[in-house]
Amino acid sequence: MEPVVAADDVSKSYDGTRALDGVSLAVPAGEVFALIGPNGAGKTTLVRCLTGTATPDTGSVSLLGESPRESGRERLGLLPQSFDPPDRLTPRELVAYYAGLYEDARRPADALREVGVDPDTETWYGDLSGGEQRRTAVACALVNDPDVLFVDEPTTGVDPAGRRDLWEVFEDLADSGTTIFLTTHYMAEAERLADTVGLLADGQLVAEGDPSSLVAEYGGDSRVVVETDATPEAFADAEFAPRATDDGLVFEDVPATDIGRVVDAFDARGLAFGAVEWREPDLEDVYLALADDATDGRAADGRSPEVVR
Ligand code: ATP
Repeated sequence: MEPVVAADDVSKSYDGTRALDGVSLAVPAGEVFALIGPNGAGKTTLVRCLTGTATPDTGSVSLLGESPRESGRERLGLLPQSFDPPDRLTPRELVAYYAGLYEDARRPADALREVGVDPDTETWYGDLSGGEQRRTAVACALVNDPDVLFVDEPTTGVDPAGRRDLWEVFEDLADSGTTIFLTTHYMAEAERLADTVGLLADGQLVAEGDPSSLVAEYGGDSRVVVETDATPEAFADAEFAPRATDDGLVFEDVPATDIGRVVDAFDARGLAFGAVEWREPDLEDVYLALADDATDGRAADGRSPEVVR
């Protein structure tokens, strides 16, 4: 079956900055595809190429089997990363404005209720909190009940409970057959929602797969994380070879049953320590392994991805 969203060897540069460098992907109908990657990796540029608001320099894209600029507005929902509507509209007025662009739209109040915004509030969009604004923006993107929904960082600025509410909204849409293409800096969001995760770094898709196979392939081993000021050198004579992190030491490849041996190694050396946590690798470890490799050990803005558990 023809993919709903497809890119074939897409490249795009802005004034000498190569934002996309030979990206190919295909999203089948009903799938959720999550695009992750450091700031500046090219995620928004790819969303813009796939939705027809930017044109690739080379390569081709298709949306619902057509060129994105030709595919019908009725079937597409789009939440851009920067959404800046007039401030002096209530959420219901704003969503009603979007509903008016379509022949067959949902009731604005229903779309607002679904994302957890009171449809009867008289507060203007400009006075809503950042998270309330983002939820209202999501309601605008899904008011036409689209077949394919693009959401560029839909939950940025939304508090943890609100984020989970929106995840449920996206899950319900996916269950009802909507194809969803999302970008996110929240690894838990990608891990929970996506059938397929794509990791973009320096304009290239460096890994793609379902979350659990990416974790199995690139996430490394189970580990014990210990909060401590001790350094790896303190364990030079030990059976473990920990590595340092910002807050302590990580002991790789330690099964949960052996956590006591790590604690004993601290005690035997008279080293102080705080919290001791055993962790299976997750998508964040995949991100750190691959995105940092691709950007020379450092995300484009020097920050690690945000972790939400
Ligand atoms: P973020 O996670 O910060 O949103 P991103 O992965 O979405 O980043 P893009 O916004 O696609 O990244 O940007 C990719 C690169 O292209 C960056 O170096 C950016 O500065 C550059 N870029 C994007 N849009 C433009 C533009 N209109 N003009 C010039 N450069 C641009």
